[in-house]
Amino acid sequence: MYNINSNIKGKIHSFENFGTVDGPGIRFVIFMQGCEFRCKFCHNPDTWDKKAGDEYTAKEVMNEIMKYSVYYKKSNGGITVSGGEPLLQLEFILQLFKLAKEEGLHTTIDTAGNIDLTDKDVKEEINKLLNVTDLMLLDLKEMNEEKHIKLTGKSNKNTISFAKYLEEKNMPTVLRYVYIKGINDAKDTLDKLKEIKQKYKNIIEIDVLGYHKMGEYKWKEMGIKNELKDIKASTKNEVDDLKIWLNE
Ligand code: SF4
Repeated sequence: MYNINSNIKGKIHSFENFGTVDGPGIRFVIFMQGCEFRCKFCHNPDTWDKKAGDEYTAKEVMNEIMKYSVYYKKSNGGITVSGGEPLLQLEFILQLFKLAKEEGLHTTIDTAGNIDLTDKDVKEEINKLLNVTDLMLLDLKEMNEEKHIKLTGKSNKNTISFAKYLEEKNMPTVLRYVYIKGINDAKDTLDKLKEIKQKYKNIIEIDVLGYHKMGEYKWKEMGIKNELKDIKASTKNEVDDLKIWLNE
């Protein structure tokens, strides 16, 4: 039995009951509210605002999850926290994952890893969270720092430090990379991604996700300038070829 603090509330954007792309099997996906990145290709800009979303305790979320738990267990699935940036709400996710572990559910975090590990308190919370996490999906947007700032509005230093830390902790990790032709596919970035995969023993694979236009309507609705509107969506062949090369 874990010690659960049921007073901690999480700010949540939405739930997906039968997710199949954010970790193994069928999953309950919790999209957390709030993100400090401003990725030009983000298809969930409505998760950015830290003040928006609905508040839930971990127990309330668990009650939702348990309605469908038979599907998650039978499919070797589980729960995934995504966003937004879930690691902005470390304490809440820790409570939720403790409850999930009590129910024998597999736990996954989908994150851009933008957290400051030089902060002692943050590191302590991360260590506790890793103890109840089965899989990390770490999104790397661009390996060149200047280009990363242009693409996301923030440095990639925290993300790269987080990747190193996950290796130290031997945390099973899938790297995720959204391939945007002509934007984040320079040779130095692709070479670095491949190097990390070869060097870090905890990396299961690099998953390449194609850039798509499905979130464009949200940018329009929210009145945000879409700087990538003339960039074409990636083709399946481009994505498959790159994935094979990166994982060789
Ligand atoms: S980190 Fe994720 S949620 Fe945040 S802006 Fe980038 S794609 Fe959107």
